[in-house]
Order: sequence, then structure tokens, then C-alpha cells
Amino acid sequence: MKPANKIKTALFLSAIFFTCDNIISQVPDSGLESINSKSLMQTVKILCSKEFDGRLPGSEGYNKAAEFAAERFEQIGLSPAGDESFFQYLNVEYNRIDSPVVFKVIASQKSVLYKLGKDFVFRGLTGSGNLTAQVAFCGYGISRPDLGYDDYKNVNVENKIVIVFKQNPSWKINDESWGQEYPREKSIIAFKHSAKGILFVSRPNDEKPQPLIGSVMHGEGEQPRDFPQLQISIEAANNLLSGSGFTISEGQNKIDESKGPYSFITKNEAEIEVHAEYEKNARTMNVVGLLEGSDPILKDKYLVIGAHLDHVGSQAGLLFPGANDNASGSAAIIDLAKAFQFDDTKPKRSILFILFASEEQGLFGSKYFVENMKINPDKIVAMFNLDCIGYGDSIQVGNGKSSPKLWRIANEIDEENFNLMVEDTWSGGGADLTPFYEKDIPGIYFVSKYSYDHLHLPTDKPETLNSSLYEKLVRLAYLTAREIVDGNYGREEVIK
Ligand SMILES: [Zn+2]
Repeated sequence: MKPANKIKTALFLSAIFFTCDNIISQVPDSGLESINSKSLMQTVKILCSKEFDGRLPGSEGYNKAAEFAAERFEQIGLSPAGDESFFQYLNVEYNRIDSPVVFKVIASQKSVLYKLGKDFVFRGLTGSGNLTAQVAFCGYGISRPDLGYDDYKNVNVENKIVIVFKQNPSWKINDESWGQEYPREKSIIAFKHSAKGILFVSRPNDEKPQPLIGSVMHGEGEQPRDFPQLQISIEAANNLLSGSGFTISEGQNKIDESKGPYSFITKNEAEIEVHAEYEKNARTMNVVGLLEGSDPILKDKYLVIGAHLDHVGSQAGLLFPGANDNASGSAAIIDLAKAFQFDDTKPKRSILFILFASEEQGLFGSKYFVENMKINPDKIVAMFNLDCIGYGDSIQVGNGKSSPKLWRIANEIDEENFNLMVEDTWSGGGADLTPFYEKDIPGIYFVSKYSYDHLHLPTDKPETLNSSLYEKLVRLAYLTAREIVDGNYGREEVIK
């Protein structure tokens, strides 16, 4: 971060602290009571503000969010437990998308200038470009001569823009996997065939075609340079195919029925303008704070409570605020730290509070934390993950099949106090819990049920949250954590 921006951030942060209630003087005696929807929602709104720009790791906005969280940790009195103060640094790919942006279909029947967010979005790691070119329909965008399937076999896409289905086929050849279906892999294939850009469209014949979401989950590989990558609506895709005798849905049918490629050059052109700035190794950070246990022996064991701070950023001014995903979990971490610090009864075991970077890109922050832990993983009695905890109507506690003892503790507390928890659970970790699960650390994953209506959409805003459910879920996490840190739980064997 540049020094000038640092000063701006400092001013912004002090403005927040002067305008919000003073978190230290207003904490009630009971940690549980200090957890309330007003305080949680206040932090969610701050994290969703324009200033934090959708919290994409590598961006100024993410850095500000991390500094805000570190300041809160410091105010609460947590000990810094990163590499430098509260920050544990790691490098990730970062792409900034600036204005102006254009996506236009030039068709003989109907030319349309489309709208960002409504008719198209950029795949997060799009390259720059300013071009008009003819469009080629290339089915699933797959080139697998080893399986005898190649969408590029009978079509020359040189200097064309290709349109492909974002997903792989739902059928297989010889029961072989198609491999990954990330945008990067399909982009690299198109790029190697000398195309100039790629348009993804969700499989139109799915029961619920994927909406136009913001995403930085891109898959592995080198980023093709100056190669725009967009996801467009089914309607825009149909406009591109107009005059070719097929709708996009009929195109999918044709391929699915024959299990063979059906690629062709359309009659129409697309115009694309996008300005992107790509950094392969942008610095970002987890935020880590420690609350040391009060018992001379038990404090040597840890509970980790984590949530991802990052989201998918913004695209040329279109903000993805990520209120539920995961400003809700991040705000909960701050309030849980406050609740434990100021409760009359000090936790006996130690607690590590962590805000992870780059969950949305592939769990990079939590993986980095687990791989570079200074404490022996045997000393972590449990990990709690909080992700998407403020939307919907009930509470789900995940990973109960892998850590049933933890799940039952949460379930008993819920039955006594809230009665909001569903029976349904899962195994194998999930999101930021997964790297801990893989190290045989027991854990549970708090999520509000039916949480994903606005997932990765610009509409994931604070006002959509169910603040009363949110408060109860964080209180459930607090009471469950209390049992762990007070020594009433012995680390269980993870069921795999
Ligand atoms: Zn999330």
C-alpha cells in the first residue's frame, strides 16, 4: 500500500471508531450478552462498504479490511499471532478490472449493447482487450483427442472470439473424467487455438442454469495475456447465434445427443472492451490474533475460530459486497473475540481467531495457515469455521459426520437455547475447515441454512440478512466454543 493511501485508511478507520460505539466501554459483563445483532450488523455494513471494494485479496480494499480487523483485534486486546503483528502474509494472483467496459453483440438482426452485472460479468481473471471479432460456437470448449472428442477439430477460430459452455458435459466417454472445468483451462485451450477472447455461457438445459456470478475461482495454469474472459447470459448467447439456425439450447442438445462436437462460425460479431491489471504474485494476508488461556496447563491447547474475510471484489465499479459471504462470518470473529476477552470467566484453553484470505480463490489463506503453523497441529483441539451465517431461516452445523462429538455439543446447546439447528450435516470438512480436516483436526462448520440465494451476486447486501437468526447462530458458536475452551471436550478422532 502506498503511504498516501495508508494515511487515507487511517483517517477512514479512525472515523469508524469515533462514529461506532466504543467497543470496550460498552461490553456487558457477560460475553454471551455482548453478542448482539446491532454490533454484528454494524461490522457487516463496514466490511461491505465501497471503501473495502468487495475485499478481493491483493486489492487496496482487502488491505483496508484486513487493517480494520487487525485494529479491532488490537482494541480487544488479542495478542498478534501473525508473522508481522497480526498479519500472516502470502502471495496470490490478483486482477483489477477498470472502466470503461463494453460487451456488444453485432448481429444482422439485432445489435445490442449489454449491461455489466445484468447480461454479462467478467470471469475474475479476465485479460485486457479492445476488439471486435466474429464469434465461433465451440460447444463445451474441450479439446481431448485422447478421448476422441475435440470441439476445435473442425473449426478455425483464429482471430475469432469463441463462445463455450462454462460446464463440462454431464455425460462421459468411456467413463473417463473430463478433468477440471475451470475457466482457465478452457481459456488456455481457446488461446492456444489462436482465438482472441472467450465467452462462457452456462449450460442452458440445466434445471437451474448458473446465474452470472462474480468469481475468482479460476483453476490452475498460466494466465493467457490480453485475452478477455466473460460469462454472458443465455439471452445474449442466443443473440450471438441468431441467423445460424440454432438456439444455444438446441446447440447443447445436438452435442449431447450425438456425444460429438458441433462447432461452427456464427454469422455475428462481438465487441469487447476491458482494461485489466494482472499481478501473478500480489501480497495479501491472513489476520491472526491470540487470546491466551487462563489455565497454566490447559492454555497449551488451542481452539481455532476462523472465517474468510475475502470476497470477489468489484468489476469496473460493480461491487460484490459479500454481506453473507462472508462479512457475516468475519464480523462474528470480531464479536466472539470480544465476548471471550471480556467475559467474567476467562477461557482456560487458548483461542486463535483467524480471518483467512483467498477462500474464494481456492482456500489459499487457510491452506497457507495450516502449512505454516508454528504450533503443533496436535495442540489444536478443534477448529470452528463460520461461513455464510446470516441469511436464511435455520442453522446447519457441518462436518458432524467427521466430528460427531463436537456436533452433539452444538446440538445439545441449540436444543436448550434456540431450537434452530437442522439434523442434516456432512463429512470431510468443507471450505476453510478442509485443510484442518486433512491434518486430522476435528472441527465444525457453522452456516445458516438456505444461505445461498444471493451467492456471489451484487445483491448479497447487509439488508438481506436475517439479523435475529444471525445473532442466535453466533451465540450458539460462542456457547459451543465455551465448552471446548473450558476443558469439557477431549479431542476426538476425526472420522474419514
Ligand atoms: Zn464463503
